[in-house]
Amino acid sequence: MRYTEAKDRSAELLRLALGRMGAQAAALNPHTYAVWYEVVAGINPPLQQAVAALVDAGSAVDDEAVQRLLKAHVTPPDDEMLERVGHQMQGLMAGLAQTATQTGDRAGAFGVQLGDLAAALKAQDTSQLSPRLVELLEGAAAMRDAVSALQGRLRADQQEIERLRGDLERARGEALLDPLTGILNRKGFDRLLQGLLADPHDAGRSHGLVMLDIDHFKKVNDTHGHLVGDRVIQAVGQVLRTSLRSAAHAAARYGGEEFALLLPDTAPEDCLALAEEVRQRTRAMRIRSRHTHEVVLTVSVSGGVTTLRPGDDAPTLLARVDAALYASKHGGRDRLTRA
Ligand code: GH3
Ligand code: MG
Ligand code: MG
Repeated sequence: MRYTEAKDRSAELLRLALGRMGAQAAALNPHTYAVWYEVVAGINPPLQQAVAALVDAGSAVDDEAVQRLLKAHVTPPDDEMLERVGHQMQGLMAGLAQTATQTGDRAGAFGVQLGDLAAALKAQDTSQLSPRLVELLEGAAAMRDAVSALQGRLRADQQEIERLRGDLERARGEALLDPLTGILNRKGFDRLLQGLLADPHDAGRSHGLVMLDIDHFKKVNDTHGHLVGDRVIQAVGQVLRTSLRSAAHAAARYGGEEFALLLPDTAPEDCLALAEEVRQRTRAMRIRSRHTHEVVLTVSVSGGVTTLRPGDDAPTLLARVDAALYASKHGGRDRLTRA
């Protein structure tokens, strides 16, 4: 689903979008709303940039601009991409099947010629040997051409298939990434967690989960505006991404201003140390004004840290880490609680 914002969050976005729509020339129809909704939700950075460029240039966001923006940035690219790749694959397969059939026909004819020669040899009919041998030589040459045509086609198609596979993987990967921060989105995270839970694990191994939530983030939006809020979310995402210590570690934007770290094969003390590093690095961040370059705000995160226990499923694990996060909020924020 393209829009995953819950009702109260979407209500806030409606209010924000209406403010932006009212200030512009385009009619207040669902197309215009789709554009502004995605801008204020921060779920479509390329669209945000295109709109910001228009606004900065003093151009009106009118009906025509809305249609252009919709077409360029709002139509989901993943479906289009999947459809295109599907078509190209079909074309490739059809061409390959045709070449293979032709090679098969040629091989069939060659087989018949071989059979004739064998029959002539068996009958010891020497008068038939010479014409059969000539036929066979011609057949062998045609066969060689057909096989080399098939090989050439296979090689070319192989490259094309590799390229298409890359496109597909990219499209699939993008559907699991959060566009604002570039780390996993909730779907990507849930999938990893399911994979980890489905994997039978040895008693000696420990898997960690950290849940973090930016403190008083509503105030950041209220005081500095939504776009600064988005920059804060991006910066926290970057802190998470650069704190991971193994290839198995993963960072995700779990919700609006909530983040998760999945830390397979990591001892409980190491999970806590990693989360503590994220907390401190977030605290040390200085968000500056784009215009004056002055520091305009600092932020903090609260978090819960836990490790997988025997019998855990996703709900019990998430409930435990959420409870720990809640305790950090209640304890005064800018802290971690272990559960
Ligand atoms: P707490 O310390 O208890 O977590 O307080 P909070 O203000 O951070 O929590 P609350 O849940 O009240 O508010 C979260 C806010 O995050 C509300 C919502 O508008 C904002 N938000 C969620 N997603 C985004 C986003 O993508 N961009 C921006 N700018 N704001 C977002
Ligand atoms: Mg918060
Ligand atoms: Mg929250």
